[in-house]
Amino acid sequence: MAEFQTSPGTRDILHPDSARWRAFTARFSDAAEAAGFHQIIPPMFEDLGVFQRLGEVTDVVTKEMYDFMDKGGRHVALRPEHTASVCRAFVQHRPTLPWLVWYAGPNFRYEKAQHGRYRQFDQVGVEALGSNDPWLDAEVIALGWNFFAGLGLRDVKLVINSLGDDGDRERYVEILRSYLSANSGDLSKESLETLARNPLRVLDSKRDQDAAIVAGAPSIRESLSDAAKEHFATVLEGLDTLGVPFTVNDRLVRGLDYYRRTTFEYVSTALDSAQNAIGGGGRYDGLVEDLGGPATPGIGFALGLDRTLLACDAEGVFAAPTDSTDLFVVDTTGGANATAIAAALRNVGHSVARAYDSRSMKSQMKQADKSGAKVTLIVGESEAETNTVIVRSMVDGTQRTIARDSLIEELKKEFK
Ligand code: AMP
Repeated sequence: MAEFQTSPGTRDILHPDSARWRAFTARFSDAAEAAGFHQIIPPMFEDLGVFQRLGEVTDVVTKEMYDFMDKGGRHVALRPEHTASVCRAFVQHRPTLPWLVWYAGPNFRYEKAQHGRYRQFDQVGVEALGSNDPWLDAEVIALGWNFFAGLGLRDVKLVINSLGDDGDRERYVEILRSYLSANSGDLSKESLETLARNPLRVLDSKRDQDAAIVAGAPSIRESLSDAAKEHFATVLEGLDTLGVPFTVNDRLVRGLDYYRRTTFEYVSTALDSAQNAIGGGGRYDGLVEDLGGPATPGIGFALGLDRTLLACDAEGVFAAPTDSTDLFVVDTTGGANATAIAAALRNVGHSVARAYDSRSMKSQMKQADKSGAKVTLIVGESEAETNTVIVRSMVDGTQRTIARDSLIEELKKEFK
């Protein structure tokens, strides 16, 4: 075995998977730009404090942060998600409102690595800052929904809930805390620990032992203010208007503590239930303030690229794009001709592959076959002497000889 392997929870993404990643991001950027969002590329590490604003009881902050002192004595961390960085950037640059941004890139969390859960994982996402409009919530949620549908995914479920406003949430947490404490004898050991830190997260428990207690827990619905209830009703109306099916689940709380009002998750029913959330998001009406900015509402989502591709595999959709090599150059005269021809053709926009190491004609033709090129150009001794090239169609095997200086013009006909 090689001395060095990738660290646990990290992977090399090789061709053709890397081509699939590229296509995924390109599709997402097209969809987001069409909806009026523009790209933000925040740094991969920030002052630790930026991420600490995500909440003191959030696992991502307390247990999973990749933080370290840099050589200048700054305590920094690799980003565990993008939302905090986007809000920090908002406070730093004060753009005009509403500010609509999309992003794509890796995040880092020191999690227990397993299939579908990595320590370095990619997300694409959007954030919309500066509007409280519930119709915006519906549009944002629909953007994610339509993106998944565009990949060909059918087994996706949208689950939605409202966590109410600041006061609502706190009120509900106390109601929940007393209910869970009264039933603590029946809770799992893990949930008892969670209860002490963050009662809401007990609702996330997937353990059988907790199922009955979680099912009987009081609903947050009764704790919502009239304003939060109205907001939620309009979001659902918006989803109906946009033709997005949803399931309301008043147990959905999500892992990050900053969510207010609308919160949602896209779940793949084609994946194992332990790792079936392919995306999620919500409103976070306090985060910008926590980062030192003016009170500014925000809503966004993050879609997990790695996990969405697993869902695509499970449903047999969104395969890696096929190779798009136009041309392959075979040269049995030493390589100078292939070098010159390939360079000239690449310069006018063709994708061109070629053989190296002066292989035999037979071996080079084999490579040409494998490359998927539509046309192979062949230069042997006699072509080199007469300044000609053989143009061979890899589709029907027909070939013709043409003057080398008419090559670019001739190929225009083949690749219109
Ligand atoms: P979050 O930022 O925790 O709201 O996660 C949003 C989405 O990112 C999830 O629904 C997953 O699809 C994906 N995700 C989060 N953590 C991981 C991870 N450790 N490995 C792979 N995907 C992840």
